[in-house]
Amino acid sequence: MGLGGIGIAFRRCSPSFLSMRFGACHQPRFTSAVMFSHQMSTNAESVAARLNSAGFIRSQGFIGGKWTDAYDGKTIEVCNPATGGVITNVSCMGGRETNDAIASAHETFLSWSKLTAAERSKRLRKWYELIMDHKDELGQLMTLEQGKPLKEAIGEVSYGASFIEFYAEEAKRVYGDIIPAAMSDRRLFVLKQPVGVVGAITPWNFPLAMITRKVAPALACGCTVVVKPSELTPLTALAAAELSIQAGIPPGAVNVVMGNASDIGDALLASPQVRKITFTGSTAVGKKLMAGAAGTVKKVSLELGGNAPCIIFDDADLDVALKGTLATKFRNSGQTCVCANRVLVQEGIYDKFASAFSKAVEDMKVGDGFGEGVGQGPLINDAAVRKVESFVEDAISKGAKVLIGGKKHSLGMTFYEPTVIADVKSEMLLSREEVFGPVAPLLKFKTEEDAIRMANDTNAGLAAYIFTSSIQRSWRVSEALEYGLVGVNEGIISTEVAPFGGMKQSGLGREGSKYGMDEYLEIKYVCLGNMN
Ligand code: ADP
Repeated sequence: MGLGGIGIAFRRCSPSFLSMRFGACHQPRFTSAVMFSHQMSTNAESVAARLNSAGFIRSQGFIGGKWTDAYDGKTIEVCNPATGGVITNVSCMGGRETNDAIASAHETFLSWSKLTAAERSKRLRKWYELIMDHKDELGQLMTLEQGKPLKEAIGEVSYGASFIEFYAEEAKRVYGDIIPAAMSDRRLFVLKQPVGVVGAITPWNFPLAMITRKVAPALACGCTVVVKPSELTPLTALAAAELSIQAGIPPGAVNVVMGNASDIGDALLASPQVRKITFTGSTAVGKKLMAGAAGTVKKVSLELGGNAPCIIFDDADLDVALKGTLATKFRNSGQTCVCANRVLVQEGIYDKFASAFSKAVEDMKVGDGFGEGVGQGPLINDAAVRKVESFVEDAISKGAKVLIGGKKHSLGMTFYEPTVIADVKSEMLLSREEVFGPVAPLLKFKTEEDAIRMANDTNAGLAAYIFTSSIQRSWRVSEALEYGLVGVNEGIISTEVAPFGGMKQSGLGREGSKYGMDEYLEIKYVCLGNMN
């Protein structure tokens, strides 16, 4: 990117005691005794060194177009989950830096929102092009900090960029209305205007796409943004912010602060200048943010946890069902909120499906995301592994049977074996909560009504999948499912042109598509009187 690199010293991530010494700015990522592959670490180190000298690794926050240290000089480690090596230390910011980012976003809002839609569109388009020009480097950066296989990471860069391309086009289509008046001397208009400064809080599982699908529509509408990426994966966000400046998006339109999550969150919530909070992450944090936004009555959109059912009916095409279930379950090692969390299989096809599915899962290659042919990377950290282990133990203790996997991978670190577990029941943790890991629990059902009842028996309502060759059934079941997204005979359905979002406790609002624009717009009614 034509910028000087920062000093990178390769070392292992801090053990847990550092969290006590340095507080929130040092979170332990890996606490267990781990095996450490020298070969994996060397490969990752050379990629990091190359990215660094090309200016892709940034260590400071981005406020008003300036790279900025935390005001108290604190930093936080960003670690490679595949090796446990420290990639770099980034600024660990809090409320004061966030308030400055908000002030800068507010000042820029006054000019950015006044540009013509065509002008904003051109700059967004340029940003899209720059991201696509650097998709290999951004993909490598993502694999380094997040762990997903390189091919998947580069795929996410294209997916993330697609939101910018789409909203560059939508920017020009923010139409209002003229309403036929009830009185002859009046003329009634509806204007759509940007809400103002947006606070965007994002998770680690999609370090780019969760940001662009918030920031792109916000900028397209004329809003400016303070982004808080996950402390686990801030590097892709920082590199994307740098490219936004190169694209001509003005300083202050996109700000990035990371560090102490609750301090940053509290500053965003408290500020009357922040008019909108958009969040992707856990249901627990989403509820906190929703409550906190009440103080200043901000608009809120939330993409929270799921508990996706994947329903395989007796009449499904087995190959299509296998391929679709593998894709939705094991994408990003099971760490997405739309990953199948429960695989419900009708009794007539259960045994056949279970054995073919287990065979396919057994063939998956696990390893460092930079490795040749690797389909499954590590989990994000030790806590993620412990959660998966506890869910699997709970299921086994209640009578479930491991068909494949079921334990940590021999690679060590946070690698977990792709796992299939049969005879799972609805009272087990694997059915009740999101496992967020590479574990596919199989549940048997008898009738279509049973499947719908089991699928809807949860507080979540994000994504659901059904596999059937009956067109009538596909409609009936799609309509009966209490979910925001339904995939029929398809496991990967997210796209920038369709609305993404949940029902029940999976969230509020929609991202992507024309509906994604509404989240960043106010509706204003203007009445012209005495017009005769
Ligand atoms: P996950 O368990 O997937 O990491 P979280 O909801 O904890 O999900 O995190 C999603 C995002 O929310 C991250 O950027 C995280 O730092 C941020 N976050 C966590 N707690 C808070 C909080 N109290 N206020 C604001 N943001 C928060």
